[in-house]
Amino acid sequence: TDPVLEIRGLRVDYGLGDAAVHAVRDVDLTLHRGEVLGLAGESGSGKSTLAYGLTRLLPPPGVVSGGQVIYHRDDGPPVDVLALSPAQLRAFRWAETSIVFQGAMNSLNPVHRISTQLLDVIKAHEPRSTAAARRQRARELLRLVGISADRLDGYPHQLSGGMRQRVMIAMALALEPQVVIMDEPTTALDVVMQRQILGQLAELRERLGFAVLFITHDLSLLVEFSDRIAIMYGGRIVEEAPAAQLYRQALHPYTDGLLHSFPALRGPRRELTGIPGSPPDLRAMPDGCAFHPRCPKAFDRCDKELPPLGPPGDGDPGRSVACWLHPAAVPLTR
Ligand code: ATP
Ligand code: SF4
Ligand code: MG
Repeated sequence: TDPVLEIRGLRVDYGLGDAAVHAVRDVDLTLHRGEVLGLAGESGSGKSTLAYGLTRLLPPPGVVSGGQVIYHRDDGPPVDVLALSPAQLRAFRWAETSIVFQGAMNSLNPVHRISTQLLDVIKAHEPRSTAAARRQRARELLRLVGISADRLDGYPHQLSGGMRQRVMIAMALALEPQVVIMDEPTTALDVVMQRQILGQLAELRERLGFAVLFITHDLSLLVEFSDRIAIMYGGRIVEEAPAAQLYRQALHPYTDGLLHSFPALRGPRRELTGIPGSPPDLRAMPDGCAFHPRCPKAFDRCDKELPPLGPPGDGDPGRSVACWLHPAAVPLTR
């Protein structure tokens, strides 16, 4: 209940004016200190756009067109990330919030030793530290992610994909940020590796206390490793709940569809039905609830009015949903 990152009404567009594609639409999301928050949704739902928008790493033509991102320092007043100057932003990244990109394991520079890249991050933020102290710190970081310190002077190609990914995590943790954002690739092939990485991050979180925003299309992973889960559809958060509750009973039919897209982890067997149809075209979004053309439970209200995200009037106040089957008691407002 102690927020470290509060996203309020965030909007991100690709392009400007009439040509703009609204990829993130009025997103409200809170990351609490020390928790693992999972963000899931089909490809194209806006997960990466949300992550890059909130950290201001959005490549053009992406623009943040509205909202606030409030970061609560552990020592000092909160800051609005979207209002930071370029210099403040440089100090903020890595030290307060770090991000491991989608496909990060390929983003280590192949011509430089691991040590050079890891030491650069530490040096940029701690220029007054001694070379010996930095090297010691780099060795500790590698050990922390389960890589033996003698790999420090190796080159990226000498490591497996999973090890490179862990080096990226070591870099992300180097300056002891309060928030680590991890954006995972969408390929099914990487699920085994994602599981290892997420398990390890959750374990490190126990020891170091940072919060994690873990992005994946694979909801089954999140059910296992996250404290809370948020589900994204067509650029909006459509449901958010503690992981166990979401797994037990999804309130949003889209979440329910996602849960029926992988075999049950425990309890009775579920029928694997998947979700019919395809994700919405962001340039031609359906009126009302964006999910209505695919929703097995749609009724007359659904194609007319957009359901607001909020605690369901008929259910647990600790979770939120945007669906007319569970009208919000009090919609989240800004
Ligand atoms: P994935 O699971 O495949 O990584 P995602 O949820 O991360 O998907 P995003 O990459 O955030 O989705 O993309 C969200 C939407 O924004 C998509 O519909 C995509 O087509 C659109 N989009 C992304 N980049 C651009 C761009 N440069 N120009 C226009 N539209 C874009
Ligand atoms: Fe389905 Fe209607 Fe709920 Fe949308 S609002 S998910 S269409 S029941
Ligand atoms: Mg993505």
